[in-house]
Amino acid sequence: MWRLISNALPLRSNIGRHIKGFDRTCILCGLSEEDNDHLFLKCSVVKNFWFYSPLGVRCDVFGSVTELIDSWVSHNEEAYKLGACLIWNFWKARNRKYFDNEDMCFTKINKAALRCLNDYSSNFLEEGTIELEIINSASTSSYTFQWVPPPRGVKKINVDAAFKDNKFAVAAVARDSMGSFLGCITVIGITDSVETVELHALILGLKFSSRFDNNPCWLEGDSLKVISWVNDSSSKPPWRLENQVFEARSIITNSNTQCVSFVRRSCNSVADLLAHFAFQYSVEDVWV
Ligand SMILES: [Zn+2]
Repeated sequence: MWRLISNALPLRSNIGRHIKGFDRTCILCGLSEEDNDHLFLKCSVVKNFWFYSPLGVRCDVFGSVTELIDSWVSHNEEAYKLGACLIWNFWKARNRKYFDNEDMCFTKINKAALRCLNDYSSNFLEEGTIELEIINSASTSSYTFQWVPPPRGVKKINVDAAFKDNKFAVAAVARDSMGSFLGCITVIGITDSVETVELHALILGLKFSSRFDNNPCWLEGDSLKVISWVNDSSSKPPWRLENQVFEARSIITNSNTQCVSFVRRSCNSVADLLAHFAFQYSVEDVWV
């Protein structure tokens, strides 16, 4: 990350400054000069990569790659660490394409980034400063984080679900940049799988967002599996869930939702408590 921020990576634009006649064109799209902002933010390939990554970034919101990194730093440390691992593995995949002519696979990069994050977290685990937990079979770090408000002008919706004996409750909570409560909603029902319920929660949150102003929306949930399905178009959700995944993707494309991100459970505690409350007392209601 230091080399990226200092513009010290051997990008084609940087090499071209020292070697006369060196081809500076981006090897991924072949359309623009490969510099920091192009390769990591503006290239059509990296735009798709970010959108379908677990961080669900919409690149058009940012003017430069340092702005993107700043947004993680001010958003939460978890996003920054995952973002750094994604950038590192995207860079390695770019090098494999350049030197070995290996096709880029976003799913592979995402998995390698999560492994990288897990390795990093394991080092801290030995020092006893953090706990490690396995979430939906993918390993990620988990720190004692709290919910972090979105930037000014953005609303954040947290979603979660409770599920037992085929009964479920899903909840969505909307808050603004001051952390003020905007509204919440719960729905209860019957179904047969926890993934169906987590997707139900996510779709509820996406739809709930339209009840408020037209400002951009960030959605957060703690089901990494479901968020990866929705963000990564190359992922393969079970066929019985495909319609729900497509519905979620379509709402995201046609709404002001800027990102759908994974957060650990402690950052999602209000939505978690609300879902459990709705489950326990069979409450289906809207508070705005
Ligand atoms: Zn490009």
